[in-house]
Amino acid sequence: MTDTKEILADVPTGLLIGGEWRDASDGATIDVYNPATEEVIASVASASEEDGLAAVAAADKAGPDWAARAPRERAEILRKSFEMLIARKDDLAKLITLENGKALKDAQGEMAYAAEFFRWYAEEAVRNISEFSTAPSGNNKIMVLQQPVGVSLLITPWNFPAAMGTRKIGPALAAGCSVILKPASETPLTALAIAKILEEAGVPPGVVNVIPSSRSGAVCSAILADPRCRKLSFTGSTQVGRILLAEAAKSVVNCSMELGGNAPFLVFADADIDAAVEGAMVAKMRNGGEACTAANRFFVEAPVVEEFAKKFAAAMEALKVGPGLDDGTDLGPMVNAAACRDISALVDDAVGKGAKVVTGGGQQEGVGHFFQPTVLTDVSDDALILNDEIFGPVAPIIAFDSVDEAVARANDTEYGLIAYLYTGDLAKGLAIAERLDAGMIGLNKGVVSDPAAPFGGTKQSGIGREGAHDGMMEFLEKKYIAVSW
Ligand code: NAD
Repeated sequence: MTDTKEILADVPTGLLIGGEWRDASDGATIDVYNPATEEVIASVASASEEDGLAAVAAADKAGPDWAARAPRERAEILRKSFEMLIARKDDLAKLITLENGKALKDAQGEMAYAAEFFRWYAEEAVRNISEFSTAPSGNNKIMVLQQPVGVSLLITPWNFPAAMGTRKIGPALAAGCSVILKPASETPLTALAIAKILEEAGVPPGVVNVIPSSRSGAVCSAILADPRCRKLSFTGSTQVGRILLAEAAKSVVNCSMELGGNAPFLVFADADIDAAVEGAMVAKMRNGGEACTAANRFFVEAPVVEEFAKKFAAAMEALKVGPGLDDGTDLGPMVNAAACRDISALVDDAVGKGAKVVTGGGQQEGVGHFFQPTVLTDVSDDALILNDEIFGPVAPIIAFDSVDEAVARANDTEYGLIAYLYTGDLAKGLAIAERLDAGMIGLNKGVVSDPAAPFGGTKQSGIGREGAHDGMMEFLEKKYIAVSW
């Protein structure tokens, strides 16, 4: 167990605007809690609208110089940032666990993933490839440049406090944009610590500004209404995403949206059931179930449903629940009391409608927001848990009888982020993958996240992609120059 003071020793608590660390204009602050102990661990400056607009001015001022730098120079700063994150990944992982609650091994996994976005976009920064062609008429040469979209507002959730920031900052900086990062109020410390590292790695003042705020709505609306802000990249719930799309529409701001999920996890009778259970554990329990990619609904072919449920419940029961920083913890606390209440309400509703609790079932008594790993079977079709994002360690299992039924049920949701399927027949798996309405498919895989792959959803799970070359394209705009000579 590491001392909280030691973890927080060098972590800034001010706003970063134009290269200066400062208090909020009105002195407001946000208390940050440790979800394992419910104690306040830090007090962080909470940006006002005035601070938000100061960040726009700083980003606007710094943008042209950053955009004009050689791609190689931007790449090398990102590469240095990657190396510095890796060198400090253990300390940053502890910081994530402290403010988010997740088990230290999940936080370490997040840091490796988070850093990788800087390495990947260091490599992509030099691959801003433009196009050139001759028009079919022969009258015109078509030259297409890719130029940075401009000042970008990045809004991130609390569930991956490091990776959701680096997944946006990396491609934005590679493309030549300056940014304003508004991290979640529950987990602002990780974002501030990463911003300090970016400064040390050579990111010029004003290129990355960070403004935690408990007044997210007002501050982000003011920023989006400022004509200097040209891009919104948001990761968070579909509900908040809808509000922000409406705000962005007022000044026709370019939007990339990574929103909620309701992932189905299909297990066919021909699957290797032990491998499916192993995949289910990762798909459900990575990050304690607090992931947009978390498997939310387990559809299992009738002949194997009992075997799968028994083995899955045994694996869930074997998890060690406790403070994330303790040695050997598999499942830390949920982020806050409201998260636990929401999960309990979904479980209670399902049980009230006939679901059986195979293991777990509720919140743990005592200090900290701990929720028991839970498996439910016989979940009725009208249970809310099949429609709402659970965002916790609860797995509802439902039996199915045919491929068509499984596909129809999997697709019966407004979300389309990711779907998982396990089968021993690869051709069948690929054919089903084509029919699943989701932006990402885990085929005999319980985790798909990879900085080199396009991450994102269909339907109300979002617009655009992060990671891969696509992620940088979200921060570039085409400029067509008609030329003749
Ligand atoms: P949230 O939507 O409540 O908040 C996300 C961010 O938006 C936070 O920084 C929050 O402070 C801010 N915010 C809230 N209201 C706002 C407003 N009116 N204007 C501007 N900003 C506002 O989401 P959360 O609870 O932090 O995170 C969980 C959600 O994020 C889940 O739905 C999850 O699926 C989703 N998520 C999606 C992805 C993805 O890549 N698709 C990744 C991680 C999380």
